[in-house]
Amino acid sequence: MLRVADLPIRAGVRDRFETMVRLRRDLHRHPELGMREQRTAGVVTEHLRAGGLEVRTGIAQTGVVGLVRGADPFGGRAVLFRADMDGLPLQEENPVEYASSHQGVMHACGHDGHTAILLETAREAFERRATLRGSWTYAFQPAEEGPGGAKPMIEQGVLRDPNVEACFGLHLWNTMPVGTVGVKAGPAMAAADEFELWVEGKGGHGAYPHGAIDAVMVGSQIVTAIQSIVSRNVDPFETAVVTVGTFNAGSNFNIIAEKAHMKGTIRTFNSSVRSLLIRRVEETASRVAEALGARCRVVFTEVYPATHNDPVMSDFVAEIAAEVVGAKHVLRNECSMGAEDMSYFLEAVPGCYFFLGSSNSERGLIGQHHSPRFDFDEDAMQIGAEIFLRIQERYFDRFPTPPVKA
Ligand SMILES: [Zn+2]
Ligand SMILES: [Zn+2]
Repeated sequence: MLRVADLPIRAGVRDRFETMVRLRRDLHRHPELGMREQRTAGVVTEHLRAGGLEVRTGIAQTGVVGLVRGADPFGGRAVLFRADMDGLPLQEENPVEYASSHQGVMHACGHDGHTAILLETAREAFERRATLRGSWTYAFQPAEEGPGGAKPMIEQGVLRDPNVEACFGLHLWNTMPVGTVGVKAGPAMAAADEFELWVEGKGGHGAYPHGAIDAVMVGSQIVTAIQSIVSRNVDPFETAVVTVGTFNAGSNFNIIAEKAHMKGTIRTFNSSVRSLLIRRVEETASRVAEALGARCRVVFTEVYPATHNDPVMSDFVAEIAAEVVGAKHVLRNECSMGAEDMSYFLEAVPGCYFFLGSSNSERGLIGQHHSPRFDFDEDAMQIGAEIFLRIQERYFDRFPTPPVKA
């Protein structure tokens, strides 16, 4: 197995590792849900200020931004790094001393690690600002797990003053071992849409079905029928998911339910498949209901668009990652049907969101994201900070003129 101690990670990062671990564990002990990251935002603000950075707070409620202006303003150009700060509504089951002390809330996705990596990257950059060009914006956003903090931060001007022209971010990734990096050009994470189905039948006595329209039976047929959309309507070379996650109906064993309510999600990578799925879920649900004498109302809500990496920026990140972990440990096809609101930053400016391998089977750090046993190998944080710092050092050499969004 690859040893992190053998990788070309600078002394500046190795010296900061202890602080990164301390920060990460402190945040892990005190997770907060989306838009309630007051304590976390306080820790972030204090740490950035103590490092000397210019800090803006209260952006999209709890969002925080740190700024480093390089010695050479380079035409007022700026680049953004992004981390997310929120935890999940989950009870932690890890028997570790830094386990969550907040009942029913847990950092089960690694956002504590993202925050720690970016904090120390920002402080290291500030210390070496005499050698940096351009301006660097470090954005710590709330509520990635919902309702979303990236979009309101952009609306509140995080990409202006200084003018951000590109963005980068990472996600710790437990489906890949520590020492690997995933960099996918093009769509890397899916678009997510939620839907709700309201079936309306006619209630009645369980012994007299002929006088009623059974919403449980109608709803069940709808769930089954919409499972044919991906297998029968979507091009086999495309990727899509339709999941019905909840089904609620009925009140007693001898009452035919009048209503049923279901919630689900669709995941897609491109807009034509997305609109096909939206159309077919609507048609299938309403027509199956109609055929069975009931009615079904369908409502869609857009969650996040697909996370789309710029191909040139992706090559740039992959080259840097290869210097740090070795070319054979850089996976160019890693992508996910999960959704991310980093997608809004990447819609606004070109950039790259990459996956930082973080599991370690020898140490039992293999829990899935969003599970009560999720934990990651903290060594991955050194690799993440080293890649971020190399991106900073090389960006303006690689892009002497502002990149044009594809
Ligand atoms: Zn997550
Ligand atoms: Zn996440």
